[in-house]
Amino acid sequence: MPLSAHTRLVGLIGWPVGHSRSPTMHNAAFAALGLDWAYVPLPVAPPAHGDDAAARVRDAVLGLRALGLRGANVTVPYKQAVLPWLDTLTPAARAMGAVNLIVVEPDGALLGDNTDAAGFAADLQAHGVEASGKQALLLGAGGAARAVLFGLAQLGAAEVVVANRSLERAQALVAELQPRLPALALRATALAALDAAAQAPLVINSTSAGMAPQVDGLPWDEALGFAPGQVVYDLVYAPRQTRLLQLAQACGARPIGGLGMLVWQGALAFTRWTGHAAPVDVMRAAAEQAAPRA
Ligand code: NDP
Repeated sequence: MPLSAHTRLVGLIGWPVGHSRSPTMHNAAFAALGLDWAYVPLPVAPPAHGDDAAARVRDAVLGLRALGLRGANVTVPYKQAVLPWLDTLTPAARAMGAVNLIVVEPDGALLGDNTDAAGFAADLQAHGVEASGKQALLLGAGGAARAVLFGLAQLGAAEVVVANRSLERAQALVAELQPRLPALALRATALAALDAAAQAPLVINSTSAGMAPQVDGLPWDEALGFAPGQVVYDLVYAPRQTRLLQLAQACGARPIGGLGMLVWQGALAFTRWTGHAAPVDVMRAAAEQAAPRA
């Protein structure tokens, strides 16, 4: 649908944003439903010439309301920096301490939400992976790891071992989140010192190892391999077939790439903004097209 004088706008706040699949995915969904909406990049460059980083983020967030946008997604590096400028946070955003979705309410109030955890949980469910009562091994302890832990808690997982290259970061994440996730037993370990946890039925990679352009990266000791029956979920979705997923496939384990998580968090945002059920298949096809196999 061509843009008009009535086009409703949403967009993506982050830096950089040029690589994002979200505009393609959402604009395909708007077109499929015949909605006069558009999703645009909203790059917020780092400060230069002494201007203030926090003030830039404030201007970007408050600008959504001033310019009549319906909302925005928020990505790296601003998922925490936007928090002070929002009027309300959903319980998910408050618990995670990070926002990936802003909704400008009809009265102008700015609502912060987080759909990363729900997107991860929805994708596991869409693949028929049962996490309830299970043990999982999570590689990585960054922002995405945080979302995965909340997603696993939502699905009723019993225990998660967090393995990170820097042990201190894994320990800090576990210490911070264990009190907020009392039903999930968390333990930290060093990625280089994986023990029996390597045999967990569900292994999730939330490190950026293997992500384009460093496609040779592998956050796993190749000699360990995987056992048939293990599910290996890689949040990295570019390339589609990471080295980790190739290894899982070769060992007879079940490989699942992270594009579905991106699609589901986008679908949840789409519905929050438009009030329409998201055309998930359209969004997935658009995201796949925008993420060529490397
Ligand atoms: P962060 O920068 O917050 O964290 C990066 C993590 O990767 C850290 O744990 C870091 O370990 C680890 N790491 C980086 N390089 C290596 C390496 N060579 N070997 C082992 N560990 C490594 O990034 P995010 O958590 O935000 O994102 C991580 C990945 O998840 C990215 O590829 C991102 O694209 C993907 N992602 C996918 C989503 C989806 O929808 N599918 C959603 C969000 C993220 P250390 O602490 O030791 O430095």
